[in-house]
Amino acid sequence: MKNINEINFEGKRVVIRVDFNVPLDDKFNITDDTRMRAAMPTIKKVLNDNGIVILMSHLGRPKNNPDPKFSLRPIVKHLEELVGRNVIFADDCQKAGEQVKAMKNGEVMLLENLRFYAEEEGKPRGIEKEEPGYDEAKKAIKASQKKFTETLASYGDYYINDAFGTAHRSHASTALIADFFDSDHKLYGMLMSQEVEAVDKVMKDIKRPFTAIMGGSKVSTKIEIIENLLTKVDNLILCGGMTYTFKKALGGTIGNSICELDKLDMALDILAKAKEKGVKLYLAIDAVVADKFSNDANYQVVDPMNIPDGWEGMDIGPKTRELFGEVIKNSKTILWNGPCGVFEFDTFSKGSEAVARAIGEATKKNGAFSLIGGGDSVACINKFNLVDEVSYVSTGGGALLEAIEGKELPGIAAIRK
Ligand code: AMP
Repeated sequence: MKNINEINFEGKRVVIRVDFNVPLDDKFNITDDTRMRAAMPTIKKVLNDNGIVILMSHLGRPKNNPDPKFSLRPIVKHLEELVGRNVIFADDCQKAGEQVKAMKNGEVMLLENLRFYAEEEGKPRGIEKEEPGYDEAKKAIKASQKKFTETLASYGDYYINDAFGTAHRSHASTALIADFFDSDHKLYGMLMSQEVEAVDKVMKDIKRPFTAIMGGSKVSTKIEIIENLLTKVDNLILCGGMTYTFKKALGGTIGNSICELDKLDMALDILAKAKEKGVKLYLAIDAVVADKFSNDANYQVVDPMNIPDGWEGMDIGPKTRELFGEVIKNSKTILWNGPCGVFEFDTFSKGSEAVARAIGEATKKNGAFSLIGGGDSVACINKFNLVDEVSYVSTGGGALLEAIEGKELPGIAAIRK
């Protein structure tokens, strides 16, 4: 497998799968262009070589083919600003062959939303799994998916996948297309390479001690990650709303705290497995509790095994901040997913902030490798302005989580094949 920096793309047509699934407001203005900016190093590499760039992406979840609400056309202007040249827009991703042939070196094209064709995802539209006829409809889509993919592949001499955010999907443009290129002509983009390298540092080439901090609201949504991490980490910090499922399972009184009553056995099982594997598992030793779910609630610090009636756990307390901070600062590899409390309310964001700062300190002072990923921990790092203090902030929510669960991502596997 080649690295894109080893290749000179002069005069070559390069089909690049990017993740331009950006949020748009009701006037179709881009409200956050992070994903577009993240793809620029790869696009600019090809353009600096005087190659020809054909960009393809999905946007949202269109139900009709096509649906103007999900057109990529509104992002063209901003794309032109970012790449510093004109962008040709192809209204139909399947009918761009002639336009592509006419492209000259250094030109850029953006194809219309791939999901205007059901073949992109390979699932029939307008019919549910349970309904009669679904299987036939699925077969028909699968049959036409090959032609759809082949058309996209025909636009390029090379295929680059730089869309880490969709690497966990086995779609036409993210995985199947790679089969139309030999191993020297399919490549990771720069963003994809960085993400894969970051995941490898927490899954394969681990420097110890390795500490994972898992937070968020529920244990049930993180169970597969926690189970996989138990085979890798030295320390596992569990925080956020899931704390109270553990405290309840251990016989605690948790007041109105969020709790998954049907997951108490799961919580005990995790504690037992951690012990069996010699993983040090940390839970909060004090909690900030509130008398209502609000930023201006009354609050106090209590023992999380003994929360008074009418109060609910909102954040970790000062002793826990110190305890978690010490563990983090003594680590050489750190993975963080999910906040320690209801960080959206400033009053209850101190725990998440302390954890974020400790991760920054371990990274800057001790040379630890730190990976932050999954929606809300990225939001935390941004809220506290600590992006530059950590080693890597992943752009892929679902894709990162599946990689940490230990799954092989189809978009990555298709290039490695
Ligand atoms: P998740 O999507 O599972 O990663 O959960 C993230 C959400 O968990 C954030 O919106 C937090 O506000 C929320 N959260 C964290 N700690 C608590 C808590 N103690 N009680 C209720 N929600 C919490």
